[in-house]
Amino acid sequence: MSHKWKKPYKKAPVVRSKDKHHRLPSSRGGTSDPSNISLVSSNVHRAYHQVASNRTPSELAALLNEVWIDPKVEIIVLVRCYEAEQMKTLARRLGILL
Ligand SMILES: [Zn+2]
Repeated sequence: MSHKWKKPYKKAPVVRSKDKHHRLPSSRGGTSDPSNISLVSSNVHRAYHQVASNRTPSELAALLNEVWIDPKVEIIVLVRCYEAEQMKTLARRLGILL
């Protein structure tokens, strides 16, 4: 009686591609620089844009506060600590007067 040895079956690794999301939308001046890109699953990406469209985080927070959130609660957006020059550039992009 002969034995045939088979290589153990190995499943091919599941490759889940990620979408590139522009944190500051390209329609609003966002670049494809890695600092402006988040890699997210396509389902999450689609869901985000269903709600956010191409709104900035501040605009999204305003929309959620106006329509969706319990009036006793408020979503706010805080800008992380940046160097002064980066802060001015970011403020200019978002239309905020410093
Ligand atoms: Zn996106």
